[in-house]
Amino acid sequence: MDHLKNKIFKIVSAAAAEQGVRAFVIGGFVRDCFLGRPSKDIDIVVEGSGIELAELVAKKVGSKLSVFKNFGTAMLRYREHKEAEWIEIEFVGARKESYRRDSRKPIVEDGTLEEDQQRRDFTINAMAFSLQAEDYGSLVDPFNGMEDLRNGLIRTPLDPDTTYSDDPLRMIRAIRFATQLGFTIVPESLESIKRNKERLSILSRERIAEELNKILMARKPSIGFFLLEETGLLEQFLPQISKLKGVENMEGKGHKDNFAHTLQVLDNICPYTDNLWLRWAALLHDIGKPSTKRYEKGIGWTFHSHDFIGGKMVPGVFKQMKMPLNEKMKYVQKMVQLHLRPIALVQEEVTDSAVRRLLFDASDDIDDLMTLCEADITSKNDKLVQKHKRNFALVREKLVEVEAKDAIRNFQNPITGELIMSKYGIPPCKEIGIIKEFVKEAILEGAIENNYEQAYALMEQKAKEMGLQSV
Ligand code: ATP
Repeated sequence: MDHLKNKIFKIVSAAAAEQGVRAFVIGGFVRDCFLGRPSKDIDIVVEGSGIELAELVAKKVGSKLSVFKNFGTAMLRYREHKEAEWIEIEFVGARKESYRRDSRKPIVEDGTLEEDQQRRDFTINAMAFSLQAEDYGSLVDPFNGMEDLRNGLIRTPLDPDTTYSDDPLRMIRAIRFATQLGFTIVPESLESIKRNKERLSILSRERIAEELNKILMARKPSIGFFLLEETGLLEQFLPQISKLKGVENMEGKGHKDNFAHTLQVLDNICPYTDNLWLRWAALLHDIGKPSTKRYEKGIGWTFHSHDFIGGKMVPGVFKQMKMPLNEKMKYVQKMVQLHLRPIALVQEEVTDSAVRRLLFDASDDIDDLMTLCEADITSKNDKLVQKHKRNFALVREKLVEVEAKDAIRNFQNPITGELIMSKYGIPPCKEIGIIKEFVKEAILEGAIENNYEQAYALMEQKAKEMGLQSV
């Protein structure tokens, strides 16, 4: 049996027979077998105690087991031999669940395989392989998951209103799988999501963010965001993005739909980066547009300072999604804030100081910023696209040139606070900041070169002006 060739399956099978219980491989592993996607996680469901079966298997293979008593699950790490990859095997008892309307926490009881399959999210995730000797490896598929897999359909095993209302996270999971696999959500399921969208309020934002990140990491995330918008889910947790939608007309002039534009930028960037946070930056790069939109007579639609305002909105989005307010957030904020700057460097007559300032502000993230700017070109006019791309190639050249000469990317001020304190015998005070800033500005402006001697001389000059005496 090709799909169960890993030795662990025979071991689990023998252990289950020894305990007199039936065990099955279930869920994502089974689905991914048929999709030809490699999968490192295996879920085993047991008609009996998942923990007891896991304990016996762990004893047989001599592996350590992590037991989660509260959830009735146990996790085993296993590899067939020293060079093989580690896989994680999760054991759980088959259960049936009933839900109350006000909570995600179900009342759980022991159940049969079929009852367990019913509480799964989608038919393609509810298929199981038997591990019993008599029908080893055969598919147990009461909801025709195989047919849905063949036809590329996302469908719930039960009435979708029941499945989605019981656990609203499944609505976002439906969209996540549709995005990752390029599948279609069946119409009655899509309608049910629209009807049940308010149920999202009982979910924690962390769990939503986890699914959202998987959508962002797909090959074409726009599929997911269009679905999230269409179903009305998006405005409940990311209103800043759904507000981008729509076109207004004044005096016969419209502006582009910033929602569609944003999603195209997001798709554009995907082939160039697996960095989740750069993808977040693409998603958020224009969130400042709705609040800065103006119609100016004779000029048309403007979005002045949307880069700056958008950057200021980033921490709020992270907070609202319960994502950590750490250096990743700062990176996204920086990308949003700087996303127009390289455009200003496109003109032929660009001073080195403008280039140095961008290198200083973007620092090591300058390449990511250029990738974002290139993805931001979404004109339908191919000639125009080519022209913008050529211009950005020139900007990249200028950046390399100036960096080679002035080494600004990882700018370290040649003048440190300690140097100023010891030379002038002063304690930490604001004068130190003033001198350092003065030297930095002179370097970025090109008044002096980025080296110790010239910086030292300038420090002495400024200190003298400020009435400081060296000791
Ligand atoms: P991936 O590893 O790509 O996330 P997966 O299908 O393995 O895909 P998991 O989240 O690991 O996803 O879930 C494992 C299995 O558990 C699923 O295949 C599904 O059968 C079931 N499952 C997970 N979450 C839910 C849920 N919220 N409701 C019902 N069943 C679920």
